[in-house]
Amino acid sequence: MHTHITSRPDRAGLRSLIVSVPQQAVSGVANAAKTLQAGFTTLRNVGAAGYADVALRDSINSGETIGPRLFVSGPPIGATGGHCDENLLPERYHDTRESVADGVEEVRKKVREIHKYGADLIKICATGGVLSKGDSVGGQQLTYDEMKTAVDEAHMLGLKVAAHAHGTSGIADAIRAGVDTIEHASLADADGIALAKAKGAVFDMDIYNDDFILSEGAKMGILPESLEKERSIGRAQRETFKKAVQAGVIMTFGTDAGVYPHGDNGKQFAKMVEWGMTTMQAIQAATATAAKVLGHLGDDLGAIAPGKYADIVAVQGDPLANVAELEHVKFVMKAGVVYRQDDQATVIK
Ligand SMILES: [Zn+2]
Repeated sequence: MHTHITSRPDRAGLRSLIVSVPQQAVSGVANAAKTLQAGFTTLRNVGAAGYADVALRDSINSGETIGPRLFVSGPPIGATGGHCDENLLPERYHDTRESVADGVEEVRKKVREIHKYGADLIKICATGGVLSKGDSVGGQQLTYDEMKTAVDEAHMLGLKVAAHAHGTSGIADAIRAGVDTIEHASLADADGIALAKAKGAVFDMDIYNDDFILSEGAKMGILPESLEKERSIGRAQRETFKKAVQAGVIMTFGTDAGVYPHGDNGKQFAKMVEWGMTTMQAIQAATATAAKVLGHLGDDLGAIAPGKYADIVAVQGDPLANVAELEHVKFVMKAGVVYRQDDQATVIK
């Protein structure tokens, strides 16, 4: 429910400046194939430049390239200077991301524009982020009114809204504004968790990601200030995850793959179990619950039943006994077509 299919982990920080949108689209083709091979038959992509994710979705749907079924947001809406703007260059190289919007009227127009160019959902950047330069990870960046406008406009158009939100006040305002899924949700406090539960807002928390950023991030080009931000919130996010699970908040499986290598998505299952989910809850977060949270887009997904797409994976052992089996998928079928089948004699025993 949270990938960046056109991103590569080794193009972080300043390295991102020399990557063109066409290059991102080409990387997306390779990343999509890897992710399908890892057993993920549907992805929700939340943020891509130049509508490269829209193009990739259409290419996969037409049979031109191989990958998971994609539901995509296109470029994420954010404030000038915020998490979803471009803050790496000094003013003399002034650059603004295509989806920056300030004030309710600009937000409204941007939602309509992103719908026009083919997105399946809207992503907004409610608070600061770990990987953005110059902002505070907990600081709110869109006002309640801006978020309410984005939600009203998107819902009128039949699109759900995902909000990137680490900070406490931004999470609460996003939920109050009617946002459907809170991405990261790192610093949600007891009130935020209670509000999510009351309003049926969904937490989509990337709790494996922290391990990769802290061990490999510097090599990938992640800025020192971003590594510092990750150190400040990584553990807190996992503690929030545990509290949200205990409180009964609806939780989905979102990894932020793209920040870490595509195809390693399954590594998050074990973290979700380590931090409070039952194995079945973690599996459902990636299947039945995710399909439900997608709304009408998920009608034919998330279960093995008559009338649903035949999206099936197989592993060698029992994933309910050892959830890490889901990191080593041996068989992948998407919509009735087999894309992976390792050593049949071993699999069927
Ligand atoms: Zn992300």
